[in-house]
Amino acid sequence: MRTCRICDSALTEIMSFGDMPIANGFLTSLEEKEFLFPMTLHFCSQCYMVQLGETVPPEAMFNGNYQFVSSTSKAMADHFQGNAEEIQTRLKNVSDPFVVELGCNDGIMLKHIAQAGIRHLGIEPSANVAEMAKANGVNVSVQFFNKATAEKIKAEHGQADVICGSNVFCHIEDLNSVFEGIQVLLKDGGVLFFEDPYIYDIVKKSSFDQIYDEHVYYFSGLSVAELAKRHQLQLVDMAHQDVHGGSMRYYIQPGSQNTVTERVVEWIQKEEDIQLNDTRGYEKFKDSVNAICRDLKTMLEDIKQRGDKVVGYGATSKSTTLLNYAGIGHDLIDYISDNTPNKINKYTPGTHIPIKAYEEFQQDNARHVLLLAWNHKKEIFAKEKDFRASGGRFITFFPEVVIE
Ligand SMILES: [Zn+2]
Repeated sequence: MRTCRICDSALTEIMSFGDMPIANGFLTSLEEKEFLFPMTLHFCSQCYMVQLGETVPPEAMFNGNYQFVSSTSKAMADHFQGNAEEIQTRLKNVSDPFVVELGCNDGIMLKHIAQAGIRHLGIEPSANVAEMAKANGVNVSVQFFNKATAEKIKAEHGQADVICGSNVFCHIEDLNSVFEGIQVLLKDGGVLFFEDPYIYDIVKKSSFDQIYDEHVYYFSGLSVAELAKRHQLQLVDMAHQDVHGGSMRYYIQPGSQNTVTERVVEWIQKEEDIQLNDTRGYEKFKDSVNAICRDLKTMLEDIKQRGDKVVGYGATSKSTTLLNYAGIGHDLIDYISDNTPNKINKYTPGTHIPIKAYEEFQQDNARHVLLLAWNHKKEIFAKEKDFRASGGRFITFFPEVVIE
């Protein structure tokens, strides 16, 4: 029986997605052999953590040429600048503060802390990404974070006033070891905050495409409160973020007697209202995911049968889950338009749909577009207003399949 990575209790399977390729495993040629793994989602009824059943060995996931560089997106750059400003405000009255960021990537957030002259350290396990952070003026240490590395950092720099991490914690399988490190490094009265995709948004919108190999955990206030408690820490605040189709930022402090904000109480109540503390909540999620997949496939088949074509918009990593699980391949989608240079002329993992440059879509007369990058709908609708004004239509699918 599978056991919970956090508390060792028996897990309940929520749903199985079948054999899934690596979400970011875009193929250069159709002759390439693909790595597949049985993707399942599980729930722990003891500590409420939602997690993948199997994980993919890192060597299969990060095949040398993969690296996510945060600073490529303007919206994300603005988001992280906001995070840096929040940290500075928090530290205004602290003398000689020390900030540690786990998974600092190319320094997109920490460079603002560096520019403000605040003592800081970025922890980044990927050496080539760490080099980019150094070039941005950030102090970086290339290592994994755990209790032993936390002891070393503490001996050299003292304890941290702020520890943070964005879209990092959900990727780390041995999360208990990270929290053991945080327990060592975080100063009394200091704060840990981290943000990741929020299971409440995923369940509420049925946006199951957030579930893929790189995301081991899908956090809620319920599960983070339990995780913190195991390490003599306490969840004290939560702030919802509109990035990545709905993320949550969790604030955690040492001890158990801190002031807990009303927001924590309210969010946990909302989570309980949709039964995120109970397998029944996830059974409903599974049913609604399956209904969306069925409706979407039927709609695409109808369009195809009429002799019209459908193209995709945005060859995102997360669309790998949607396309593979719903069984939407090259027979239903002519190609997917994307403007990421290293994706153009490749094929989607598992479903082998060709990816073409955005210019191709602009010159095309396709009238039906499957909006795979649905979390950027607002910006995309603004950008494509001429396409829509001339009768072009986007197909969106969360929380239900709609042509708009
Ligand atoms: Zn558990």
